Amino acid sequence: MAEPCIFCKIARGEVPAQMIVNNKEIVAFRDLNPQAPVHILIVPKKHVASLDDANDSDLLGRMMVLAAALARQEKIARSGYRTVVNTGRDGGQSVDHLHIHLLGGRPFTWPPG
Ligand code: 5GP
Ligand code: ZN
Repeated sequence: MAEPCIFCKIARGEVPAQMIVNNKEIVAFRDLNPQAPVHILIVPKKHVASLDDANDSDLLGRMMVLAAALARQEKIARSGYRTVVNTGRDGGQSVDHLHIHLLGGRPFTWPPG
């Protein structure tokens, strides 16, 4: 049965998104509620609930390499950027489908909130 989750629907093209990459295993699209001038989500097409459920290290590696490539494409690689994977309740995960946030275009503070 098709997963009802929002990121699965975006990956299947059932819900519109500002799509940047759509390859056989990964989609990347702009966040609906951007927290920085550049805010892209990198999402596997296969439904994986969170990093805690992820076991495909090759796929995770390709998602990170894609994040770096998109940072260069978006011209934020020189100034710097942040990649974030929120996991579970304390991690602040709100969509239960694994995703990497790529954020840039402004400075970020540390430690995070
Ligand atoms: P999380 O809080 O799980 O780490 O991140 C989920 C992100 O997905 C949030 O930044 C939120 O703005 C974004 N988001 C939620 N629903 C949609 C949607 O339907 N379309 C897009 N483009 N982003 C979404
Ligand atoms: Zn999903």
